[in-house]
Amino acid sequence: MFREDTIVAISTPPGEGAIGIVRMSGELSVEIANKIFVQKNRASITTEDHRRMLYGHVYRESSVVDEVLLVPMFAPGTYTREDMVEVHCHGGIVPMTEIVKLILENGASMAEPGEFTKRAFLNGRLDLAQAESIMDLIQAKTPQGFNVAYNQLEGHLSRKVDAVRAALLAAMAQLEVCIDYPEEDIEEMTYAEMTSRFTAAEKSISELLKKSETGRILRDGLSTVIVGKPNVGKSSLLNALLRESRAIVTDIPGTTRDIIEETLNIRGVPIKLVDTAGIRETDDLVEKLGVERSKAFFNSADLVVFVLNAAEALSEEDEKIMGYLRGRRAIVLLNKSDLAPVIDEVNLRESLGEHVPIVKTSLIQEEGIQELEDEIAKMVYGGEVSLSERSLVTNLRHQDALRRAAKSLSEAVESCRVNMPYDFLQVDVKNAYEALGEITGETVENDLITKIFSQFCLGK
Ligand code: GDP
Ligand code: ZN
Repeated sequence: MFREDTIVAISTPPGEGAIGIVRMSGELSVEIANKIFVQKNRASITTEDHRRMLYGHVYRESSVVDEVLLVPMFAPGTYTREDMVEVHCHGGIVPMTEIVKLILENGASMAEPGEFTKRAFLNGRLDLAQAESIMDLIQAKTPQGFNVAYNQLEGHLSRKVDAVRAALLAAMAQLEVCIDYPEEDIEEMTYAEMTSRFTAAEKSISELLKKSETGRILRDGLSTVIVGKPNVGKSSLLNALLRESRAIVTDIPGTTRDIIEETLNIRGVPIKLVDTAGIRETDDLVEKLGVERSKAFFNSADLVVFVLNAAEALSEEDEKIMGYLRGRRAIVLLNKSDLAPVIDEVNLRESLGEHVPIVKTSLIQEEGIQELEDEIAKMVYGGEVSLSERSLVTNLRHQDALRRAAKSLSEAVESCRVNMPYDFLQVDVKNAYEALGEITGETVENDLITKIFSQFCLGK
């Protein structure tokens, strides 16, 4: 349940740093700050000090806890729309936890993960999609992923969703009138008009859904497995990619998630290399794919990069792997192209089918990596999708809500076509309206809100 009390948490990441920030939100924030914080030659904090950095010391009774900078912020001009205080102290475990303890002793309680942002949502400062984007901003692995999240925070997605909802609300109001005052002669007109309204709304939703795969990948990363027989060049590929990629991000255990994974930045696409250690030392791939764990990795990957040695005939094993690639997002690397070719490209194309790109590389001569990156970018961004698109859907929850809304609307269109009674239409439109409201949080259950914010980090 939402608590009205004053909350406190350390908002900077765990560990040591130059500065650590302890933050409070709630009615008692300033009162508590006045109890523990002393400025030289000045009395207590007033509203005049809104968003000012104040220099002073935090005291426990008469002994100094730390030398700090303190920022009081008064409602409603704050992140949570409540009074807030930030204490910038030395970034060590001792001063940070001592200050938190002191604040707790003075009447605050410990914040739950995401509680600051949850309050911002509950107090109407952010809608749910915007609140979710905060976590995406923090966890973004590439500047492009960050941009997409930032646009969501700015409300670009919410505005599109709200516009469709407003149109549906107007349609429902009109239907309501028609239900209350049925008039035979306007019936045909109403069905035609409703059909065009529903079709327009459905179209807006489909537009959003069309690019949602790109959005999802920019947010969550493209999980990628590199497979191939021993000695074809998998390790060489990995090393080449690590050298080329502009940023290598490794999740630090305990901060936001527990899994450690290598993430490369390829043209803004976060590439998550799945189980690289396991795949690097593959002796018998088919046998390895028989092992459930590897199979699960292989099956759940967004992208399979299959490496072949161009100077060696295709084996039965290779053919078998190529069978697994059907219907998958896959790229075949024809490596060692510096050697005399044995694999015939025309035959290879035939075995693979049309949709799998073949990239020739000579990893030893550092050739072909750019082409591989081109193919990956093409797969993710596609032809028509431009990154300037500001309202990208990135989140599976949003995707699901959009799909349900689109389905209800196509049912409404069908109901119009067969002249179903208006109250049938009303049900479909209402379903669509409510599904869309889940994105911005207007029609969402309390449990879901709790679940969403509990995935946030502490102090956010
Ligand atoms: P892995 O077993 O699939 O990981 O293969 P490695 O990356 O360890 O490479 C196996 C051997 O092939 C090494 O001796 C590499 O130097 C060599 N190799 C990798 N790429 C090329 C290439 O493009 N051309 C040639 N001629 N040799 C290569
Ligand atoms: Zn290797």
